[in-house]
Amino acid sequence: MYDLVVKGGRVVDPGQGLDGAMDIGVSGGRIAAVEAAIDDADAARVIDVGGRVVIPGMIDLHVHFIQGAGTPGVNEIAVPPDLAGVQSGVTTLLDAGTTGAWNYGVYLHHVANSAKTRLLSMLNIGKFGIPGQALGKPEIYTPEDVDLDATIRLADQYSEHVRGVKVRLVGPALFSMGADLIRLAKEAAREAKLPLMAHVGDIIGFDERAQDLTRTLLQEMEEGDILTHVCTSMPGGILDANGKVLPELREAEANGAVFDPAHGRSNFNFDIANRLAQQDFHPTTISTDLTLNGRKGPIHSLTETMSKFMAVGYTMEQTVRMVTEAPAKALGMQDRLGAIAVGREADLSIIEELNGKWRFQDSQGNPFTGEKALRPVHTVRAGELIPLEWGPHPWGWQPAEA
Ligand SMILES: [Zn+2]
Repeated sequence: MYDLVVKGGRVVDPGQGLDGAMDIGVSGGRIAAVEAAIDDADAARVIDVGGRVVIPGMIDLHVHFIQGAGTPGVNEIAVPPDLAGVQSGVTTLLDAGTTGAWNYGVYLHHVANSAKTRLLSMLNIGKFGIPGQALGKPEIYTPEDVDLDATIRLADQYSEHVRGVKVRLVGPALFSMGADLIRLAKEAAREAKLPLMAHVGDIIGFDERAQDLTRTLLQEMEEGDILTHVCTSMPGGILDANGKVLPELREAEANGAVFDPAHGRSNFNFDIANRLAQQDFHPTTISTDLTLNGRKGPIHSLTETMSKFMAVGYTMEQTVRMVTEAPAKALGMQDRLGAIAVGREADLSIIEELNGKWRFQDSQGNPFTGEKALRPVHTVRAGELIPLEWGPHPWGWQPAEA
C-alpha cells in the first residue's frame, strides 16, 4: 500500500507542534499517513530510522547554485544544486541572486531542470547578477547596471521560479547611488509583488559609512522583506559602535521583516551571533550562502551551520524551525513546504543529533566549540529516497571534534 515507510523515528515539526515517535507512510510521492505505528507489511520499502530525527524537508534560503552564467567569479564557484540540496539532506534551495534579468536564461535553460532538489531563485537587481565576487567586484556601479523593467517583467513571467528580488548593499554603489540603490530594488520587488532580499555587510568597499544605508534599508523594509547576513561583522552590520542592536532593527522586526544569517565565507561572526541573542534578537531562519569554496570551509553544510547556532544556545527544535516552517513562510510557500502533513509532497530530512565536543570556525576564523551537532542521514524528496554525498569533511558530515 505504501511506496515507503519511514519507521521508528522521532518526528519533530515545530511549525505544527509535532514532537514524538511516529511512522510516516509515503505513496505516490506524497505523505499518506503520520501515525504512531504504521502497518508496513505491504510497503515497497521500509527504512528504520530509530534514534534519528525526522523533520520536514530542510530549506536553505540563501545559496549560490547557478553555475556558469558568467566568468570569472561566483558563477564558476557556485555549488552544484544537488550537492547543496538533496545530497546534503536539503530538499529546497533558494539561489540568492547569482543571476539578474539579462542572464536569467542560463538558469532557466541549464539549471532549473537539472536537479532533484526543488530549486527557487531571486533575481538580482544588477542585470547580470553577481559577476565577479571572487575578484571582489560588485554587480552595480551606476543605475545603468539595473534594468528595472526587465526585472519586473521576468519576475512576472517566471513567477514559478522567482521568489524575490536581491540587492547587495556593497561599495562603491553604496555611496555613488546611496539610497537610490535601495529605492530601485524596493520598487522592483513591490511591482513584482515579491519580497526584497537585501545583503548587508560591505565585503567589497569595507566602508564604515555602510551602516547609514543599513539604517535606511531597515526603515524601508516591509512585512516579508528579508535582511540577509544578520550576523555579519563587516561594515554595515546591525550593531552600533557600542554593540547594541540598532533601533531601526527593532522597528523592522515589529513590521514583520525576516532576518536571515546566510553564513558565507565572510558573514557569520560568532561574537555577533551571541550579542544578538543576548539582546533577545533572533534570526528568523538559518541559511548557508553556500558555494564550492564555502563548502570546503568555514560553512561546510546547512546542518553544520545549524550546529553553530546550537553552540550560540538555540535548541535543536529551534534550529529545525529556522530551516523548515520559517523559510517556507519567507518564501510565501507555507501551504506547500515546511511541514509533515498528509497530502503534502513527501519532502523529509532525516537527521541525527550528536552529543560530544565539537570544534567550529566562524567566517573570521575565530574558533569556538559546542556540545551538540547535527548531521544529515537520509533525504526523501517527493517520496524518493536519495543517497547523500560523502560529506564536506574527509570523515563525512559531522563537524570536527574538539
Ligand atoms: Zn550570497
